Amino acid sequence: MKNRKLLMIPGPVEFTPEVLAAMGLPTTSHLAPNFVEVFGQALDRLKEVFLFPDGQPFIVAGSGTLAMEMAAANLIEPGDRALVLITGYFSDRYVAILERCGAQVTALQPPAIGDTPPLEAVEAALAQGDYKLMTITHVDTSTAVLSDVRTLAELGRRYGALVVVDGVCSVGGEELRPQEWGVDLVLSASQKALGVPPGLAIVVAGPRAMEAFRKRKTPVPNYYADWTNWLPIMESYQARKGAYFGTPPVNLIWALNVSLEQILEEGLEARFARHRRLSDAFKAGMAALGLAQVPVSLEKAAHTLTNLYYPEGVDARMLPHVRDAGVIVATGRHPALGERYFRVGHMGAVTSADILVAVGAIEYGLRKMNYPFEPGAGLAAAQRVLLG
Ligand code: PMP
Repeated sequence: MKNRKLLMIPGPVEFTPEVLAAMGLPTTSHLAPNFVEVFGQALDRLKEVFLFPDGQPFIVAGSGTLAMEMAAANLIEPGDRALVLITGYFSDRYVAILERCGAQVTALQPPAIGDTPPLEAVEAALAQGDYKLMTITHVDTSTAVLSDVRTLAELGRRYGALVVVDGVCSVGGEELRPQEWGVDLVLSASQKALGVPPGLAIVVAGPRAMEAFRKRKTPVPNYYADWTNWLPIMESYQARKGAYFGTPPVNLIWALNVSLEQILEEGLEARFARHRRLSDAFKAGMAALGLAQVPVSLEKAAHTLTNLYYPEGVDARMLPHVRDAGVIVATGRHPALGERYFRVGHMGAVTSADILVAVGAIEYGLRKMNYPFEPGAGLAAAQRVLLG
């Protein structure tokens, strides 16, 4: 009997066999001609996948938090003002990172958890403060709240703030068009919709962000995150020449290059549409079972994951039953919501079969918790969406 579990958490996700095979290739020198070519290709493809042709890509060993810190450390100088739009735990984390980098931070709160700060409040804040930078968490994984990057970026630009987007839980799944929408920097990580095992911090910085970095009067306080060290390395590999500052994670970069090729083969429009369709199917299944989502409305709900409140009479003791039925989902990640909810990731290489298996396993868990519902109701609702 197979005892493999389907991993449906919001990162790391399941990866394609080709990506995993690249992880197992014999490691070469980071200066070997074949690796130099692959690193160069990955940097070129990153600009395509991010829809940011004029961006400067950075790929560095680390996790998404390093990518957040890289943006803050290189763009903020002591005393600069930063506006953080709070949509959950990860935007709260950005406040801490920016403060550590010496910024004076204003954290704009939403009216309730599951909501976004109102546009009028964002505009009022931007009009009052002379903000060097504004951060938007595209999808806050703790709440599954989706931010309207297009509208917010337009506002940020109008008031002269650099627009920084945390796309850790969005790039490669959720519609994001940084160059078209006027975003100045997008940061991400390998392990979610980009489809590569954990370990890569990824940043693509636009011309205004690079100019702000070049005009700095003070040194970047974080040695490892400093673009002064990394920019020549990235430019060198982009020109297909090896260079060294810190040893690149050779196998992860091979795997990234394979995943980026697969993403481009699928096509970004098709990929955004697949994430929307699978998300709609999963959410329809959960709604049919009577489970409520953390985001206040479907318009504000991400398509890369779904965060659900346990229904009446059910709690986190449901999750081991879901696992027994073959699917691993995640516990909550927002301090104020505690154990009241669970999270299901559906991004990257996810398929409609995965969605049906996950809905079925959750039905099994709910039944084990004696939650009353019509067995199969969630599956039927999800299947209706999948069948169009
Ligand atoms: N931002 C968001 C939106 C995230 O979801 C995460 C990770 N879940 C991070 C930042 C931090 O990334 P990492 O865990 O890779 O450091």
